[in-house]
Amino acid sequence: MNQDTLDPRRPLIIRGGLVLDATGFLGASDILVRDGVIVAVGAAGMPAPDDAATIDASRRLLHPGLVNAHTHGHGNLSRSMGDRITLELLLASAPHTSPYQSVEEKRVSATIGAAEMLLKGCTACYDLFVEFPLPTEEGIAAVADAYAQAGMRAVIAPMMADMTLYEAIPGLMDALPPNLQQAVKPLGLPPWQQTLERMRAILRNWQADRAMVRPAVAPTIPLHCRDEFMIACRDLAAEFDVGIHTHLAESKVQAVVGARRYGRSLTAHIEHLGLLGPHFVAAHGVWLDQEDMRRIGAHGGSVAHNPASNMRLGSGVADALGMIEAGINLAIGTDAATCNDNLNMYQSLHFAAAASHARGPDTSRWLSAPQVFAAATIGGARALGFDRIGRIAPGYAADVVFLDLHAPTLIPLNEPTTQLVMGEDGTSVADVMVAGRFVVRGRRLLNIDLPALAARAASLRADMNARAAASRQRYDAVAPILNDFCPALARSEWHINRWCGCD
Ligand SMILES: [Zn+2]
Repeated sequence: MNQDTLDPRRPLIIRGGLVLDATGFLGASDILVRDGVIVAVGAAGMPAPDDAATIDASRRLLHPGLVNAHTHGHGNLSRSMGDRITLELLLASAPHTSPYQSVEEKRVSATIGAAEMLLKGCTACYDLFVEFPLPTEEGIAAVADAYAQAGMRAVIAPMMADMTLYEAIPGLMDALPPNLQQAVKPLGLPPWQQTLERMRAILRNWQADRAMVRPAVAPTIPLHCRDEFMIACRDLAAEFDVGIHTHLAESKVQAVVGARRYGRSLTAHIEHLGLLGPHFVAAHGVWLDQEDMRRIGAHGGSVAHNPASNMRLGSGVADALGMIEAGINLAIGTDAATCNDNLNMYQSLHFAAAASHARGPDTSRWLSAPQVFAAATIGGARALGFDRIGRIAPGYAADVVFLDLHAPTLIPLNEPTTQLVMGEDGTSVADVMVAGRFVVRGRRLLNIDLPALAARAASLRADMNARAAASRQRYDAVAPILNDFCPALARSEWHINRWCGCD
């Protein structure tokens, strides 16, 4: 592997790059960095301290590291294990796609994600990692260490639930024949108090440097968590002053079941439980109506918009512009490699714009390229609770992506923001810097040995497949029933179609 030869004790001057920030295109600029933080951005040729190391960026377009506001580090060893699947099929497939047992499996899976995100211009992520049946301190510590070793920032929020899919969807268990009812019973989760105590220990004993990797709380899906559990998660997040993240109104099945169970929308219900606030992130929100959006916006909350997985799973097209108009902080996520297949934020930027176009020909209802770029940088930073990332400006961390202006997607450079959002695919990424240190240099990762990672991942995946054979068989038997039951349930409440504007 190459080495980052920069001396972290010396200031750094990045000279002559074309700087693209969400606040505008600055053109050729110099960036002075000290202790991993940008201290000045000025015209090309600006003075620098005598001991500053110089980086020539004269053939580079520089943008702030992208922020992936929603992914699942445990999904990287399960990449693309499912072709035509809905969210409910994805959830049912988890026991065989992600049958983790060892700490090494968790570390390797997280490392694959970090490698891909860094190579594709993303320097921070919100990772909803899951461990079954309970989160563990050693497992989450290994995930945190994987990000720290890669040199990437992350918020790690272990996903928690106290009800399975089969318990959360009324009537689903009864739709299964007795032998399959017996087969899914062992998937039952421990009482939520046990899970919460594990989460409390993770928060209390957190070892990683919080400037790089910090924890958060993720009751995974409101329908899969009893109200008392959701309230306890709220209180735990407040006690430790960390974020709270949940999958909200992702599929129509969730919207329908939520309305039936709570007598109001999922969002109205969790507002009633006191979960909404500035530290709250809702993933997806495909089935939010305007009142739901207003509720989240009024509390200063965020939505992690995952357009690629929303389309991949047939969940629908979220009204991202409506979210911005309702005062929601919009961020963008890739979601997991099980339901988006890559963790390429550039692709998710393109999908965010294109999905808004697909809603209809009224261009005034489309997300603009600057709105998408802002969501993927400033919006993501706010969603993660890292208030000093996401910009190339004094006082912000030196998390900078260097794009090669000789890459075909940037030839010629006409409209930098539009080209970045609509055209960039990651192939222009030459170098990536986090906190003033290179983590990708000359298109190669400096901290991760990809051939060794690939070999280890293949071996672990083979072990996992052998271990999960019975789970796979059970899924193959359940899937056709689930695939009839859930769409019928969604269709039964046809009027809810209005909620996502899918008219
Ligand atoms: Zn998710």
